[in-house]
Amino acid sequence: MNKAVFLDKDGTINEDLGYISHYRDLKLLPHSAAAIKLLNDAGYKVIVISNQSGVARGMFGEDMLQAINKTLQKHLLSKGAFVDDIYYCPHHSEHGEYPYRRECDCRKPGIGLFKKAAKRHDIDLAKSFMIGDHARDIEAGHKAGTKSILVLTGHEIEKDCKDKPEHVAKDLLEAVKWILKK
Ligand SMILES: [Mg+2]
Repeated sequence: MNKAVFLDKDGTINEDLGYISHYRDLKLLPHSAAAIKLLNDAGYKVIVISNQSGVARGMFGEDMLQAINKTLQKHLLSKGAFVDDIYYCPHHSEHGEYPYRRECDCRKPGIGLFKKAAKRHDIDLAKSFMIGDHARDIEAGHKAGTKSILVLTGHEIEKDCKDKPEHVAKDLLEAVKWILKK
């Protein structure tokens, strides 16, 4: 079985501008590519799991989201890094219209996408990690059975996390170094 590092996207890999609604707006955070390359070289599967309720809210469509995800991979590849897969949840329980407005199990802290990825990529969740900038990333990682690391490059500050992460890192690179030291 594979070990994996699951990554939140906005505020963890790239700058969080509230909603990234066009691929032109996607900017990697300074050390993200270097961090992901370390994981690639160490044999971890790198899987992005992202809430994208901007789709439900009608701010952008799934076509644009796929263009944004392609751009993310392109930026990473230009620096010698890559992610193995990208999963996103386009739903919201209270915003937008059918088919996007609904209760789902894939919006973090739900773990539907972790389960899907684990099955497809043969991942041992107990040997895996989740890195994100939001309390719901930490919670989702724990519910999925991974260890969770909070990064301080985005949304959340540590005191807001009721579900305590195993580690708090200044950015993705520091989080990855902590994982690789273990
Ligand atoms: Mg985030």
